Amino acid sequence: MQNIQGFKELISSPKKVVILTHFKPDADALGSSLGLAGYLKKRHHTVKVITPSDYPEFLTWMPGNNDVLIFQKDRPAIAEGYINNADVIFCLDFSSLKRINELGEMVAKSAAIKVLVDHHLEPESFAHYEQWDTSAASTAELVYDLIREVGDEALIDSDISNCLYAGLMTDTGSFRHPNTTHKVFQVASALVAKGADPSKVSKLIYDTNSLERLRLMGFVLSEKLQVLPEYRTAYITLSTEDLKKFGSQTGDTEGLVNYGLSIKNIKLSVMISDRKENIKLSLRSLGDFSVNEMARKHFDGGGHKNAAGGQTTLTLDQTVKKFLDLLPNYKEELLKD
Ligand code: 5GP
Ligand code: MN
Repeated sequence: MQNIQGFKELISSPKKVVILTHFKPDADALGSSLGLAGYLKKRHHTVKVITPSDYPEFLTWMPGNNDVLIFQKDRPAIAEGYINNADVIFCLDFSSLKRINELGEMVAKSAAIKVLVDHHLEPESFAHYEQWDTSAASTAELVYDLIREVGDEALIDSDISNCLYAGLMTDTGSFRHPNTTHKVFQVASALVAKGADPSKVSKLIYDTNSLERLRLMGFVLSEKLQVLPEYRTAYITLSTEDLKKFGSQTGDTEGLVNYGLSIKNIKLSVMISDRKENIKLSLRSLGDFSVNEMARKHFDGGGHKNAAGGQTTLTLDQTVKKFLDLLPNYKEELLKD
C-alpha cells in the first residue's frame, strides 16, 4: 500500500468498519473478508461483513460466518444503515462498484474512507487506500501482506489463518494454477505456522458434496460438455431445468468449468448457465489467451487473464449463439502454440 502510514493512522483508533465482497462470494472473497474482520476486531474496531448475495454452504464453516449480513436475504435497509454509518469501508476481491449492484451505489455515495484490497485487472479508482496487485494469486494474500505491513503479524491467529488459507488455496486451484508462486507458498507456510490446517480447510471446501451435486457433475460430464477441437474450446450450458433437476444450490456448479480445461489440447473452457435473473458465464483459459478480454469486451464482465466471468440479459440459446459466433474471431489465437 502506497500510503501505509496514513492507513496505520486510520486504523489506530476504533472505527465503524464495513467489509464488502463481490456478488456470490467465493472462498477468496469471503475468506479474505472474514480474515480481515477477525484482525480488525482484535484492533478493537466494530466490524460488519456484508455480502451482496448468498454463498455456497461449503463456506459457512468460516469463523465469523454467523455475523455476516447477506444483503439480498436480510433487509437491505439494514445494510444501508451500516454503510451510511461506516467510518471505513473495505472492498475485497472486486475492483468495480458495478459488481455489487445497488450496494455499489450506496458505497459511492457514502462519506466513509474506502479501502480496496484486490487482485483483479483494471480497477475503478474509487478508493482512498489501495492494496491492489494483479500479480497476487488471491485477495487473502493481500490481506496477509497488509496486516504484516501494518506490523501486526503477531495478531494473526488460527481462525484468521484458516480463513486466509482458504482464499489462497482456492484461487490457486489448490496450488496448481500458474499463479502459484514462491510468494504463495511463503504466505501459505506463514499461515500454517499460525495455525491454519490445510487438510481440514481442503476437506471442508472440496469434500463436503451433497449426492445431488455429484450427480449434477456426472450429468454435466456425460451430457452437457461439448468439445470443439477446431477451436480448442470446450463449453457447458446449463438451463434452469437442468439446475432444478438436481436441486442445485449456490456453489454446486463451482469448479465444473475446469473439467473442460482438463481435456488434452483444450485452451478455452466456458460454462454458460441460466440463473433466471440473468445468464452467467464462467470462462477459463490456458496460457496467453485472455478470457478477461473476452468477458470484458463481449459479456459485461472481467476478472483475470485465465479466469473470468460475465453475464448477459439474452436468453440462454442466444448467449450460446453469441459465444459460438465469436469463436472464428479468436481462432488464430486459440490455435497458436
Ligand atoms: P467465476 O467464473 O468463478 O465466477 O469467476 C472467475 C473470476 O472472474 C473471479 O476472479 C471472479 O471474481 C471474476 N468474475 C466473475 N464474474 C465477473 C463479472 O461479472 N465481472 C468481473 N469484473 N469479474 C467477474
Ligand atoms: Mn480472488
